[in-house]
Amino acid sequence: MLEVRNISLNYGREVLKDISLQLKQGEIISIVGKSGSGKTSLLKIMAGNLEPTSGDVWFGGVKVKGPITKLIPGHPEVCLVNQDFQLDKYHTTEENIKNPILYLPEKERNIFLEELIDLLELGSVRNQQAISLSGGEQQRLAIARVIAMEPKVILLDEPFSHLDGLLRKKLINYFLELRRIRKTSLVLVSHDGTEVLGLSDRIYSMKNGVITRKGNPHKFYYKPKSLEDARLFGPMNSIRVGDKRVFFRPDEFTLDPQDRHTTVDLKYLYSSFTGPVYENFFQTIHGELVVLFSFNSLENVTTIGVEHKN
Ligand code: ADP
Repeated sequence: MLEVRNISLNYGREVLKDISLQLKQGEIISIVGKSGSGKTSLLKIMAGNLEPTSGDVWFGGVKVKGPITKLIPGHPEVCLVNQDFQLDKYHTTEENIKNPILYLPEKERNIFLEELIDLLELGSVRNQQAISLSGGEQQRLAIARVIAMEPKVILLDEPFSHLDGLLRKKLINYFLELRRIRKTSLVLVSHDGTEVLGLSDRIYSMKNGVITRKGNPHKFYYKPKSLEDARLFGPMNSIRVGDKRVFFRPDEFTLDPQDRHTTVDLKYLYSSFTGPVYENFFQTIHGELVVLFSFNSLENVTTIGVEHKN
């Protein structure tokens, strides 16, 4: 449905290099990379807000026009929430959400408004002008406004960065419902892979303007290609065993090692209770730090077997 074909962007140096990707209706994809890797530029190009140096973007067989060729760039079915927010600054929170849905009958409009105010927790600022909202409130309002527009594709730049844990989970559930009911597609951009693991059908990792890998979340988590990539998606233990280096996630171990496991002797340091799991910290004989996740504290553990998940 949305297709990026051989996009390059040059600002004196190449910021994006020959990027191609596809998004089907109802799909959720994520682009993950360190700050400066080119994610925001790519998302802007996908929305039609930034002209690429070469390549193009297609939506449903129609070319998405960039700002050079179109007065109001982009495509009405592709909406972007980025760090600029693009709110009507002097309108209130309520007005910002209501304006895109003025065509709805009043009763439905009000039900939709209340649903979005409730979802994004904007009740206490509903009559405040957008310009007076905090950064986090503006981001929540921008998300509410884009949902109200009901586009076929929503592009979200670091959507969860300002949201607390519970609100993040509520919003993720809402996006999954939107996908189920309306077949809305999402493109998420994040420097923190852990934020998008649970939501993505497919992930693209990006480095220095290049897509370095594409795959499902499980592959990115358990089968990273480098330690750098691995750490975009959470902690990864890296230890020396004999003359080999062994990598494993904090949940990839057994307390009952068999012959087939790599056995590791550990010195217990401390356990940290994080609510659902304990994070247990150990040291190897070479002084490397190891973290293991468990439901109970592992203070008596002295040996583990590394057990990779497939
Ligand atoms: P990310 O979203 O991954 O942090 P960006 O797309 O914002 O990456 O930026 C990618 C690179 O392009 C960065 O090195 C940034 O400094 C550069 N860049 C972005 N916009 C401009 C611009 N208008 N002029 C020159 N360089 C830019």
